[in-house]
Amino acid sequence: MKRDERYAEAKALIESSRHISVVGHLNPDADALGTALGMWWTLRGIGKRVDTVMASRPLPQNLSFLPGFEKIRERVNPKSDLLVSVDCGSFDRLGIERVEGAKLINIDHHRSNTGYGDIDIVEPAFASASEVAFRLAEYAGWPVPKEGAVNFYAALLSDTGFFGYEGVDGRVFDFAKRLLELGADAEWTARMLRENQPLSKLRLLPKVLSTLQLYLQGRAAGLDVTQRMLKESGATVNETDDMVNYARSLATVEVGFLIREESDGSLKVSLRSKSRADVGRIAIAFGGGGHIRAAGFTCRDMERNMLKERLLKMIEEELQ
Ligand code: AMP
Ligand code: MN
Ligand code: MN
Repeated sequence: MKRDERYAEAKALIESSRHISVVGHLNPDADALGTALGMWWTLRGIGKRVDTVMASRPLPQNLSFLPGFEKIRERVNPKSDLLVSVDCGSFDRLGIERVEGAKLINIDHHRSNTGYGDIDIVEPAFASASEVAFRLAEYAGWPVPKEGAVNFYAALLSDTGFFGYEGVDGRVFDFAKRLLELGADAEWTARMLRENQPLSKLRLLPKVLSTLQLYLQGRAAGLDVTQRMLKESGATVNETDDMVNYARSLATVEVGFLIREESDGSLKVSLRSKSRADVGRIAIAFGGGGHIRAAGFTCRDMERNMLKERLLKMIEEELQ
């Protein structure tokens, strides 16, 4: 199906649906939340019955400033006749069951997207899933209300590293400009994203930083998070979400990683690279996914040291 046909089909399907559930990926970040809530406000605005669903709990409370956050549900209403997934590369990462008879529109920007929707609108060139959702709204002629623009803007800021990552080009700034014209507040949104952290997160940070190790002549750096550290600092798992950036922030480092012990004992690995290594490829090899410079996976069958050894082998190959 051609791009325009997919947009046209998505518009027709959304406009003819009676009960829509917009769903983001497990452990939702600002892009998943902001894109889903931006869609929610937009679809409500055209008179649709619509829910936002995130199957993870707890939700990241530092993002509770996103308009509509308190309305997010944990489960999909079984009466839904349409699911719209956002920012999610594979169906299993939604953490939901399929709803009998409901269609699925997959709105995403992950290169690793498996194409699991009845309609897939996947734009790997876009820096944030919110731009994909916004372009669909624009194509369809649905007005984006101010609250929707705030959500889309927060999603964009977060996934572009505050306009600092690869893929930031004039089109991204055009999109940002449109959102500001629709009422998003640049200063307020940036402040809420950066300076709205719980105390537990700052208490956790020194514990995590104390685990820093360098590998491969300083070209890779790793951090560890254990359940014990989380308990001692009173932090929830999502409070580690951006700490992998500290590993990458070192001058000599090309690849930073963080390995977090989950409450079920599995290990959640976050990978980040600067400008050469394709960490998306590494994550895919371990059954996960993501982008070239930011990717992740969950490991259930190896203990930490073995996992690190395998991971470093792959990182070394990427650095050749
Ligand atoms: P994270 O390290 O969790 O912030 O994730 C970085 C990127 O990798 C995001 O684009 C995620 O959507 C993706 N990602 C993380 N974990 C997984 C996973 N288990 N499976 C697929 N993609 C993932
Ligand atoms: Mn995401
Ligand atoms: Mn994203």
